Amino acid sequence: MSDVFNNELFEAFASASDNVYIYVCDMKTDISRWSKAAVDYFGLEGEYIEDAANIWGQHVHPDDLKVYTEDIADVFSGTKKYHDCQYRARNASGGYVWVECKGSVIRDAEGNPIIFAGLMTRIDGQSKYDSLTGLLTTQELHYFDFVAQSGIALLIGMDGFRKIISNYGYNIGDEILIKFSREISDLCNPQWKVLRFSGDEFLVIAFESNLQEVTDFYEKICREADVIILEDGRKVGISVSAGGVFFPQDADNREVLINKLEHSLEYTKNNRRGDMVFFSEEIAKKHERGLVLREDLRQCIKNGFKGFELFFQPFINPHSHTIVGCECLLRWKGDRIKDSYPMEFIKVLEDYGDIHEVGFWVMEQAIRQQAAWRDIYGDLQVSFNVSYQQFVDDTFEERAISCVEKYGVNPKNIIIELTESCQVEDPQELATMFGRLREQGFKIALDDFGTAYASMEMLKCLPVDYVKVEHSFIRELSQPGHDIDYVIVDSLLEMCKRLGYNSIIEGVENSKVADIVGEMNATLLQGYHYSRPVCRKDFEKQLDEGRKRSL
Ligand code: C2E
Ligand code: MG
Ligand code: MG
Repeated sequence: MSDVFNNELFEAFASASDNVYIYVCDMKTDISRWSKAAVDYFGLEGEYIEDAANIWGQHVHPDDLKVYTEDIADVFSGTKKYHDCQYRARNASGGYVWVECKGSVIRDAEGNPIIFAGLMTRIDGQSKYDSLTGLLTTQELHYFDFVAQSGIALLIGMDGFRKIISNYGYNIGDEILIKFSREISDLCNPQWKVLRFSGDEFLVIAFESNLQEVTDFYEKICREADVIILEDGRKVGISVSAGGVFFPQDADNREVLINKLEHSLEYTKNNRRGDMVFFSEEIAKKHERGLVLREDLRQCIKNGFKGFELFFQPFINPHSHTIVGCECLLRWKGDRIKDSYPMEFIKVLEDYGDIHEVGFWVMEQAIRQQAAWRDIYGDLQVSFNVSYQQFVDDTFEERAISCVEKYGVNPKNIIIELTESCQVEDPQELATMFGRLREQGFKIALDDFGTAYASMEMLKCLPVDYVKVEHSFIRELSQPGHDIDYVIVDSLLEMCKRLGYNSIIEGVENSKVADIVGEMNATLLQGYHYSRPVCRKDFEKQLDEGRKRSL
């Protein structure tokens, strides 16, 4: 037996780690010795193996065999100094694990190889490669030096990937991720690294790049993502957003880099969808504010909804010019943040799932208020807003019904407004639920109609009572050059009438617009011209005045 195997050093190294295996091959006899841990783990025939290259080759994953054999051949031929490659190897239980195999050849005085020795490290636990896309995982970030090398890091995220999965299913979702990841890899410069960051997010580390190169790359990515052709020939378009960070200027280590990239992407998705936005102080501040908002909101919810309040904005009957109801609009002031508008804090409530709890609070306040006003002012049509995700809650319907029962309110006086119909993932299920709520007597309104691309589609499949025509068509109706808005609104109202829907025109801001829409065929009007949303007391003053006028 060759001396190369029989030394204490081999024993010492062999027993040093459970995840690192060592091997030494006497190339003259082609007999090699493997550490005991390797024998056990990979199910080898014994510590001593003849023709190990062949035997070990049978353990290498077929897809990785080429990489492995080419690397070994290069080392033996002397083209490459060290064997260094990663591949999947079959273990004793038949599964594959990623290993990193490193080794070198010792040659005699004539240059003939005499010993080949090395070690193999299991890297499956740290998963160097993502199993779906084959891209590097974020583990690899540990090995980058963000100080010695400069460049730009881009975190690219798909917009609405969850919706793609719900429309097409998980398998197609995976196919899209694989195809998209290949496109990123193909389009980027060979010196750059592409990593799968998480779910639908990909990280590109553009070493030694400049802004122009990265901008060109991002534009190409956007174009490619626009049409992804699936195996079955179907075409799916996705849109992407990206957050960027310059290193080492803005981040000189992994933690800071990841942090800033995540904040930048979050900012882009919320404010500038589709764009590539670089980290800035403004983004840092927004993020900080988001954290405080969330904490303050949570605190208020815990304290029995302290800080939340409903404001009321009247619905005007265009014929009688009287208040016939109101929309309840949520307002909130936290301990630290006192100037947050619904668009901001409702988004936070939605993002963290707190909208359910707050939404039920809104529902109860609105219904209770309808009952309280009824005895003084007669029946008012009271509406409140509901985000799509609130409808998905199984208890919504039952709670709406028990709430009207609790306060003795006739549900025909309650209008439930669906706020962002564009997010509806399962219109059929929602339609069934709307149907049941309407059977109970509730009125359903489709809010902000006309903005989302899906508006018409939604109108087609959802049974509703009211369509609320969005502000943006109304606000400038009186301005010159807005004839198109006039035609759109007029046609929308005509359509509503023919389909048997009631309509509410939102955003009537001044008397000129009021005159124009007064001539149109809307059921109800709403806007700053009549009143801004006001607190309960002020709204009651308006109701009192209206009552006095009619006495
Ligand atoms: P929305 O339901 O479309 O409510 C109408 C928004 O338009 C309100 O903004 C209102 O103040 C504003 N507005 C009313 N008249 C005019 C006008 O003449 N001109 C202009 N420019 N704006 C006018 P607000 O109160 O900031 O609410 C924004 C959005 O927040 C609401 O839009 C609704 O989608 C959401 N929201 C409000 N309260 C709730 C709630 O309790 N739950 C849920 N899920 N969403 C709510
Ligand atoms: Mg509304
Ligand atoms: Mg609206």
